Amino acid sequence: MLVIACPFCGPRAENEFLCGGEPVRRPDAATGADGAALAELLYARDNVRGPQDEFWWHKHGCRAWFRIRRDTRDNRILP
Ligand SMILES: [Zn+2]
Repeated sequence: MLVIACPFCGPRAENEFLCGGEPVRRPDAATGADGAALAELLYARDNVRGPQDEFWWHKHGCRAWFRIRRDTRDNRILP
């Protein structure tokens, strides 16, 4: 089982959390977003094999969102 360190509660079991996925690049608000840019925002992910930044939500704890860096090859949480 993956153990995730919440910055507020400390290390907890993975089943207390929900993964929010990798950060996305939002379209420029001044120029607006066309359909392709909106589709990219909603559905396109890098899905890297290796270290990637992710948002996690401590759903069954303090309910805070935070960002961690995780290696997707072996689920290791990186410093
Ligand atoms: Zn927490």
